[in-house]
Amino acid sequence: MMEQLGLIGYPIKHSLSPWIHTKFLENTNFKGSYSIFEAREDDLLHLVQTMKDKGVRGFNVTIPFKQKIIPMLDELDPTAMKIGAVNTVLNHDGRLIGYNTDGIGFLRSLEISHPEVVDNKKIKILLVGAGGAARGIYYALKQAGYLSINITNRTIEKAELIVGRDKSACISLKDAERNLQEYDLIIQTTNVGMRPNEENSPLYLHNLKSTAIVSDIVYQPIWTKFLKEAEAKGAKVHHGYLMLLYQAQFAFEIWFGIVPPLNEMDKQLKQLLEG
Ligand code: NAP
Repeated sequence: MMEQLGLIGYPIKHSLSPWIHTKFLENTNFKGSYSIFEAREDDLLHLVQTMKDKGVRGFNVTIPFKQKIIPMLDELDPTAMKIGAVNTVLNHDGRLIGYNTDGIGFLRSLEISHPEVVDNKKIKILLVGAGGAARGIYYALKQAGYLSINITNRTIEKAELIVGRDKSACISLKDAERNLQEYDLIIQTTNVGMRPNEENSPLYLHNLKSTAIVSDIVYQPIWTKFLKEAEAKGAKVHHGYLMLLYQAQFAFEIWFGIVPPLNEMDKQLKQLLEG
């Protein structure tokens, strides 16, 4: 049977998801295709209905529809409900169920490339940013049992919305910079430093400790200014393209019930992004 998969968003012509999911189909011997559906907001409802009618196995959702799609779905997984955003939809016998794989994808990629964090839930974590991706990552870290997570963001109120009652966990960018040596893991989730603004960085890293792990979920470029500075300080780095790969792996798992093997896809994706 030919399985149909796809991506809804705008603009998405340069998305890497077709490449990733086509490889997963090959690696698991499922027959199918993954297509791009660029949509304007006015077309979204019609497109979602068409996906259902055509019996697609599932699809991904990206900017600008991760929230707008929610009322068009039949059900939400508890994690997607908590995060308030959907990036993966499963068509389960004609019922569309929304999931969010960003947080788990981030966590899997981090724990696989830096296994030393897995058994050390007391590490001090700083999350930089309070957008949709940060919300997913915060929730996944909490679910996994990490005990100490501070959030810093340009708009502090958005960080406060994520942490709920524990407002003291939210700090200004200035305070984060000043006290950076306290943190064992720093996760950059803003779009600052993304191509074409590669000369920008959300935080100065002069107080970073050399034993820290520094992650940046931006993957274009692979080496953001933030990661380059972290490496120059002696820190271990974690790249955004790994999150991209593992959040897609979790989406595939939701659609097909098996974890697709990566078979060196991490190296190939890195090469693709390096152009
Ligand atoms: P979002 O919801 O729009 O959030 C954007 C975040 O960036 C907010 O915290 C925002 O701060 C901050 N920000 C934006 N411009 C800023 C500036 N000039 N100075 C300081 N802070 C600024 O976006 P998102 O969906 O979370 O995505 C964020 C980034 O993550 C994007 O680059 C996206 O490509 C990347 N991402 C990567 C993956 C992956 O698989 N690797 C997955 C998802 C997202 P305010 O709240 O103050 O506006």
